[in-house]
Amino acid sequence: MDRDGTLSHEVGYVNHPSRFRLYPWTVAAVRAVNSAGWLAVVVTNQAGVARGYFPRSVFEEVQKRLNDEVAEGGGRLDGVYACLHHPEVGLAPYRVDCDCRKPRPGLLRRAEAELGADLKRSWVVGDRHGDLQLAWNVGARGALVKTGYGLGELTYLAPGWARPPDLVAENLLEAVERILSREAS
Ligand SMILES: [Mg+2]
Ligand SMILES: [Zn+2]
Repeated sequence: MDRDGTLSHEVGYVNHPSRFRLYPWTVAAVRAVNSAGWLAVVVTNQAGVARGYFPRSVFEEVQKRLNDEVAEGGGRLDGVYACLHHPEVGLAPYRVDCDCRKPRPGLLRRAEAELGADLKRSWVVGDRHGDLQLAWNVGARGALVKTGYGLGELTYLAPGWARPPDLVAENLLEAVERILSREAS
């Protein structure tokens, strides 16, 4: 799962923890993933750190809020992986042409190595084309949600995409429910 625009409101750079707000259905979606016995993993690009828009501590505080709010609702995130880098902007150590900035597969490779995620049987759910490309780069499938940038990408950009999303859903909860029922049948 992507973070901004998928789990939480897309507000631009989350440069203060107070700007971070989960969608009302997010915890239910995570619980559904948990109940199905799948791994619930977050993969997010947070280049605002590399750009110097906010310190790493803000990112870490948001991570804690995300984990705490999901846990308070009875859900569990098995892994939260973030790329804080940017290839051309900012200062070391964050200014680097890394292998983990989506759609490059480094974050998912970590989930594979550390959690045993079976990427070929996995889905990436996100609100941007890069999330779909990430999925396809590792042989997973990609679901586009209409929250965040999703509706705009679907309306204005998707007609030009070489490959359509494997699934389009109103939001994360619908995406999870449809993915789980597809995989169960
Ligand atoms: Mg997003
Ligand atoms: Zn990176």
